[in-house]
Amino acid sequence: MKISEIIKNNKVTVSFEVFPPKEWAKLEDTKAVIKEMVKDNPAFMSVTYGAGGTTSGFTTEIAKEVLQGGVSPLSHLTCFTSTKEKINSVLDELETNGVENILALRGDIPKDYAESPNQHYHHAGELVAEIKARGGFCVGGACYPEIHPESKNRVEDLAHLKEKVDCGLDFLTTQMFFDNEAFYNFREMCAIKEINVPIIAGIMPITNAKQIKRSVELSNCSLPRKFEKIMERFGENPDVMKQAGIIYATEQIIDLMANGVNNIHIYTMNKPDVAHQIMKGLSAIVNEQN
Ligand code: FAD
Repeated sequence: MKISEIIKNNKVTVSFEVFPPKEWAKLEDTKAVIKEMVKDNPAFMSVTYGAGGTTSGFTTEIAKEVLQGGVSPLSHLTCFTSTKEKINSVLDELETNGVENILALRGDIPKDYAESPNQHYHHAGELVAEIKARGGFCVGGACYPEIHPESKNRVEDLAHLKEKVDCGLDFLTTQMFFDNEAFYNFREMCAIKEINVPIIAGIMPITNAKQIKRSVELSNCSLPRKFEKIMERFGENPDVMKQAGIIYATEQIIDLMANGVNNIHIYTMNKPDVAHQIMKGLSAIVNEQN
């Protein structure tokens, strides 16, 4: 099913994310993770695309597995280091396998990468326009409540986001954030800029101290004092940190829902137990809303 259909009727939705393995030997392990995750009835499951397309074959395999589990997959696709031929062959493969949703991304620019004069793609908007012109897919894009790290300022970031949405995006999914105020401000600014597609809020449950350091470095997102204090106090104790991270993410989601945010995407990072505990914490709310 298309995500535009899944999220269209103001009901609460909670979706999950899975990343594909880097080698065939690990494929069955990832499939087992999916079998566990679908038990919690996510609205859809996104399947990431390895940096530079390194795991593109696995992304389709995993998307197929999600579909077989009775859940709609959202297949990520990056373009910056790709060619139009490669993109078309991945789209053909996804279409053949019944995948209807794509998260169209530029991808990170590899370190020391030299753009060639024949570079096919520069920004995600080009990929969005191409997929929409081809037809058949529901297309989402990424957005950044605390600004994309390469953008000079908020004005520039929002102007480019508006251009990307106008290329035909059906929805946006946010970068992770730990301070809901950042999301509420961003949502208002999008409304002012007439960025009117649904915005799915991306929540990352931080369950170990190492993960937060890397996540914050990569994403440019700020850490509220409340979260820093949790890290200081519990960061060295993995079991306690895991429980605190799950509760923090659950509370974030409850606050978002209370503020009218209906569509939540959890960066579940192949951790079915984390996904399950968050869903358990939300069960009455999700049932009441739907
Ligand atoms: P764009 O929308 O192209 O934006 C990138 C930068 O270019 C921004 O600073 C923007 O303001 C600027 N820009 C945009 N259009 C123009 C223009 N026309 N002219 C000038 N500047 C412009 N990476 C992966 O490798 N695999 C994944 O599976 C993956 N999944 C992700 C999922 C989500 C929800 C998010 C938020 C990110 C994901 N990423 C993934 C990371 C993403 O690829 C990087 O953040 C990347 O640096 C930007 O991708 P984008 O699609 O947002 O790019």
